[in-house]
Order: sequence, then C-alpha cells, then structure tokens
Amino acid sequence: MKMRAAFVTRPGEPITVDEVELDDPGEGEVQVKLVASGICHSCLHAADGSWADIPLPIVLGDEGAGIVSGVGRSVSGLKEGDHVILSWAPSCGQCHYCVIGRPVHCENRSKQPGRLPSGQTGMQWRGQPMHRFGTVASHSEYTTIPSSSAIKIRTDVPLTTVALIGCSVMTGVGAVLNTAQVPAGATVAIWGAGGIGLNVVQGAALVSAGMIIAIDLLENKLEFARKFGATHTINAGSTDPIAAVRDLTGRGVDYAFVATGSTRALEQAWASLANGATCVVIGMPGSGEMMQIPSRSIAGSERVLRGSFYGSARTRVDFPRMVELYRSGKLDIDGLINRRYTLDQADQAYQDLAAGDLARGIIVN
Ligand SMILES: [Zn+2]
Ligand SMILES: [Zn+2]
Repeated sequence: MKMRAAFVTRPGEPITVDEVELDDPGEGEVQVKLVASGICHSCLHAADGSWADIPLPIVLGDEGAGIVSGVGRSVSGLKEGDHVILSWAPSCGQCHYCVIGRPVHCENRSKQPGRLPSGQTGMQWRGQPMHRFGTVASHSEYTTIPSSSAIKIRTDVPLTTVALIGCSVMTGVGAVLNTAQVPAGATVAIWGAGGIGLNVVQGAALVSAGMIIAIDLLENKLEFARKFGATHTINAGSTDPIAAVRDLTGRGVDYAFVATGSTRALEQAWASLANGATCVVIGMPGSGEMMQIPSRSIAGSERVLRGSFYGSARTRVDFPRMVELYRSGKLDIDGLINRRYTLDQADQAYQDLAAGDLARGIIVN
C-alpha cells in the first residue's frame, strides 16, 4: 500500500515527507495505523549526521502508538482494532537474553541496522529500500512491524498521550525503576532535562527519592524539571555541577543518571558520586567518543558505572504498567507534551527539538 512518511535522505538536509510504498505484513508481523509519534533525540542524531552508523534513506520515529490494521501469518494475541504502543526493541522470546528476562538484548533482532528481523526494510521510496529508524519507523501513517514490537494496551487511554511510553517514558522511568531500582530516600542527580531526563526526574519522584537534582544548560528545561519533581536545579553553564552536587548532598550523590549524549556530562556525573554510589548512563555519545575517568576512582570508593538501555524494558510487562501509573495520576505524560505537529511539520519539529524548545513534541496523524 502507499502511505506518507517523514524521512531523511542525507544528513543535515531537511526532513522530507512523501509517499512511501509499504509491504503487507509478513510472517509474524502486524500492520499498525499510527495515531501519534513522539519527537525523539535519537532521531535528531540520525537527521543531523552525528550518529554515523545510521543507514540512509531512513524513515524516522521510534516512539509511537496506533491501532492494529492488519495481521500476518503466525501472529497470536493481536487482532485488528487492538490498541498498541510500539516498541523499538522486538524480541524473539527464545534466545538466551529473552529467556533470562533481558529481552532488550535479544539476539535474534536484525543484524543489519534499519531493517526488520526478516532482513527486509518493508518500505520503498522511488524504488529504493527505505530503512526504518528503531524498527518501528513511526513518523508514518502506517507501519509494518514484528508482532513483538506491538504491545497491546487497554483501549480507554488516549493514544496521543501514551505513545510516549514507547521510548521516552520507558527509557527514563525504567532506568529508575528497573535498571537502578532506586530506594526511597536516596539522593539522585540527573544530567540532561530533555524528554528522557524529565522522565528520570519523575521516576525518581515516583519512588520517593530524597533529593532530586536536575542539571542542564537551559533554564527552560530546568523549569520543566521542577514541574516534574526536581527539588534542586543546577545550570551547568554558570555553576560547576560537581561542586554544587557535593555541596547539596554533603558526600556526593547516591545515583547519578546521564540522560544526555555528552561525554563531559558523563565524566561530571562520575565525579559527583558518593562512595558505593551508581552512575547510570542512558545517553548515547557520538560515534567514537571516549570517556576519561581516573582509574583510581573505582576500587577504593566501590562506585558502579552501568548502562541502561530502554530502561531495561520487558515491554509486555512494563508498557501496561506505565499505562496504569498514568491512569492513577502517578505519571504525568500529558504534561511532557508541550507541542503538537502534523506529519508534514516533521522538519519544524526537529528544528524545535534542536533549539531546545521541547519537553516532548508529538506528531498527531
Ligand atoms: Zn527514542
Ligand atoms: Zn530473543
């Protein structure tokens, strides 16, 4: 079928919106009619060329929600009309990592970036294969995805809001709840108060962290962070965050989250830790960047450096759980969305994101 999608053909060039040919759902795949799709920083990296390993041309969008509009062979548990949140981490349910309960590391995902597990892209533009960002390629009217990427949810929540669970909420809140398992009363500092960082802030508030310190270079983002539960904010442009965090906490912070792709922020977060504390790295620095930490800063202080990918998601458990937290008012997802766009305004949306104007923007089809 033909449908419209927003894509990048060359890094640094404006995002194109045009008609794309979409294949029918194959074995184990479903077709989804997209209702809404979030504007994510990782797509900006693809658009501006800072992630060099992204295949082009590519349909953007790794955060979306919609309604199942077609079901391929051998799919169970999903039917036309089901409401789904899209996951950019399909999982086979059979491999080592799926079986040990860490499906974000599934070994049977496509080895070729931008393609489905089948090896196909499933989308063509002017006769050439169109890659897909985050498997789901959600900046489109329709998409075809592995059924494990379509997570069924209840039908009485707005898809135009809960779409954000598919990337930013899962990644940020999941880093607190699943990856770090922050205990009540712990002190937490967050580098980067964008779409992911704000969700780390509200995840920390959700588990009753004692002190929640948000760090960013932009005042408007620090203001968002206060709205989502930050007890303290630091503008790293005018204040040394390491000294400020040590000042506030006395001995250093218990959990430092790095929700930005900045290597410098990562080094600052590490230097702000208390003894025995944990630095959780969520952001993806540019290809080839290296971090420097003093080798002696690890053993004696028993600090932990650990990564968090997709909030260590087990999507079939976590997406419905996030929906319930939203319904009960414990997660504010509506408040994250400060601008709405049409698909045709995709380029403007990414310009606004690059300018630092968005808590989260969303495309509504
Ligand atoms: Zn994303
Ligand atoms: Zn697997």
